[in-house]
Amino acid sequence: MRRSIATVSLSGTLEEKLEAASWVGFDGVEIFESDLISSPLAPREIRALAQSLDLTLDLYQPFRDFEGVDDARLAANIRRAEAKFALMVELGVDTMLVCSNATESAIDDDARAASQLRLLAEAAEPYGVRVAYEALAWGRHVATYEHAWKLVAEADHPLLGLCLDSFHILSRGDDPAAIRDIPGEKLFFLQLADAPRMRMDVLQWSRHYRCFPGQGGFDLTTFTHHVLAAGYRGPLSLEVFNDVFRASDPHRTAADALRSLSVLEDSLAGEQETANLRHDRGSFTPITLTRLPEPVRPAGFGFVEIAATEPAAERAGAVLAALGFAHTRDHRSKPVQLWEHGNTRILLNAADPRLGHTWGGEATITALGIGLSDPERARERAERLSAPALTRRRDPSEAALQSVAAPDGTAVFFCPTGPPDADSWLADFSAPAVTNAHEQRDTSIIDIDHIGLYQPFDHFDEASLFYRALLGLAPTEVSELASPDGLVRSRALSHPDTKSPLRIVLNVSLLGRGPQADADGGAQHIALSCDDIFSIAEDMVDAGVSPLRVPDNYYDDLAARTDLPPAQRERMRRLGILYDHDPQGGEFLHLYTPLLDGRLFFEVVQRVDGYQGYGAANTTIRMTAHREGSNT
Ligand code: MG
Ligand code: MG
Repeated sequence: MRRSIATVSLSGTLEEKLEAASWVGFDGVEIFESDLISSPLAPREIRALAQSLDLTLDLYQPFRDFEGVDDARLAANIRRAEAKFALMVELGVDTMLVCSNATESAIDDDARAASQLRLLAEAAEPYGVRVAYEALAWGRHVATYEHAWKLVAEADHPLLGLCLDSFHILSRGDDPAAIRDIPGEKLFFLQLADAPRMRMDVLQWSRHYRCFPGQGGFDLTTFTHHVLAAGYRGPLSLEVFNDVFRASDPHRTAADALRSLSVLEDSLAGEQETANLRHDRGSFTPITLTRLPEPVRPAGFGFVEIAATEPAAERAGAVLAALGFAHTRDHRSKPVQLWEHGNTRILLNAADPRLGHTWGGEATITALGIGLSDPERARERAERLSAPALTRRRDPSEAALQSVAAPDGTAVFFCPTGPPDADSWLADFSAPAVTNAHEQRDTSIIDIDHIGLYQPFDHFDEASLFYRALLGLAPTEVSELASPDGLVRSRALSHPDTKSPLRIVLNVSLLGRGPQADADGGAQHIALSCDDIFSIAEDMVDAGVSPLRVPDNYYDDLAARTDLPPAQRERMRRLGILYDHDPQGGEFLHLYTPLLDGRLFFEVVQRVDGYQGYGAANTTIRMTAHREGSNT
């Protein structure tokens, strides 16, 4: 299917927007009127520019407050429309979006509105253009697609059809299934936007919070499926008003946008019913949907790499040693230590050139190794999702792991699973030059449970779609948590198959403030799962690495709201262990280390009876305690 984007979804001047849309590979754009009016380019020059960029101009929008007016106003509106039709001819655009009248003075009279829309279509005829009528969710009298379709059917003119906009339909909670009953040739245009679920004025929701499919809470696969089933064969077009995208690098936004359509199209192709549509030889043109290589089911983390200055690496090493890890090997050509506990591997890299410059802290998570049975297929999928491939500087003896850059710059490596062989990345490591005297100890640490990464504000939605699309992870709803330095927004992604737990938590500071909230220096953590958090905590204390201190007030509150036995509560208080439970079942015990360097910390978690969360209820306690700790 052809892919299109509204110029309003991208930042910059009209020329910059067109250039960015073309650069990532969109087929066409919707021209947003104010982008055209504010451009110094004449319509013919815009047309030529789009042609040179291999972009079609698919829609001119929006034309407002046309129908349901008195006769004097109608004459003025027709005159206004004719000027726009003439402009469209110069631009080479054949469809104009007309949205339902949202003014107070609009007249509530369907027969009048329908006959006026017919007059508009008749006025379009000499120009050879057509009119797509869209119900705004906040239209004065016409606010649903079913109502808009009633008027279009009544007006009954071949140059008048509908524009469907997923936001206007799904934000109202309207059932999109009846779209199937509209004749496909009357569906002139399709605009797609997702949005987070919010309870607020729908106009404000639409203007500020729309996002690309897969980034919000709407089911766009089902929605789009209805539209295709009705016979729509025009472009899939993104119309996204979003405060962040309006101010971000348009190339980056365009890549994010195109990625969202690739994932949507792939999910449509995956639906059995769409497969039938594809082979429909009836009245509709068969659909050709582009599939992506199936995501490879991740088998947990192969490794996590931390770039750390020597003192910070020493502090991280002390924590790892207390948890039973040992520094088992060193990289053959770089100052990188491998720390292992069973199959759980953490790399401490003292040679990252960005250390101390790009990031505020002295230790930062720079790479995630994802265990995959088929790294080559994962790489192909990544490439099709325009994930930027990373080229590694390496000597010829080093393993050639494929890697891509996540939106925040974190390297994501595709690590083959299975027994280590001569080609394994582990072969790049040999016995350490200096033995630190400790060996792996048999503790109850199981594996890496999750990784927590702060995101630069602009990249939060992009990052969640990136990990979701790349690794086939499912996102949770966004939650917002209070930290001493402001609100923190959080979203977890995990693999739906709980047998292969891969969990990534993304956090972002809403205002980018505070020592832990800075875009480059936001707190990061590695959470390790275990079977017996009490013995782990005792080991840590014995090793001189005390867990983060949790206030007594927290345990008084726990006593008030839980039935935990007093002796257990007292032990938890002494060891800084926090508690959560899920009303659906399961309990969660966890502890944190202090910040190792102002940025990085470890967490130890114990999941009981299938608990699936992250102890979000305790996050404010943790952030406050870390803040206290960094003041002393
Ligand atoms: Mg729209
Ligand atoms: Mg956590």
